[in-house]
Amino acid sequence: MKYSTSSNLDNPNFPPIKKNDKVKVLSGKDKGKEGQVLKVDRTNNKIIVEDINKITKAVKPDQKNPQGGFVVKENFLNASKVMVICPSCKKTTRISHITLPTGKKVRSCKHCSEHIDK
Ligand SMILES: [Zn+2]
Repeated sequence: MKYSTSSNLDNPNFPPIKKNDKVKVLSGKDKGKEGQVLKVDRTNNKIIVEDINKITKAVKPDQKNPQGGFVVKENFLNASKVMVICPSCKKTTRISHITLPTGKKVRSCKHCSEHIDK
C-alpha cells in the first residue's frame, strides 16, 4: 500500500468535494447554479466548477491569434460556497463518510444513504 506524505490530501478544512462531483453554488454571483467540479485545490480550499465564476481574460496577440482578444474561463471559487448534489436523489446534501466491509471509505448521502463514491 502506498503511503502519501503529501499534506495536500490531509487538509481538514476542505469540504468532502471531489473532482467530477456535481455541486450547487450557495452564494455569490452564481448562487443557485449547478455544475461539475473540474478542479480541486485542497491546499487553498478552492475549486473550479464548470460554467461557474467565469472571468474574461484578455489575450495578447500571438501567431495563433494575431488579433488578440478575450477568452472566457472559469476562475477558482471557495470550496465552502458550494454543496455537493447527490447523484441518486438529486438533492444538495451533507455527506457522511462510511467505511465499507472491504475497508474502502466512501462518501454517502445523508438524505438517501446512497453512496456517492462508486
Ligand atoms: Zn441522496
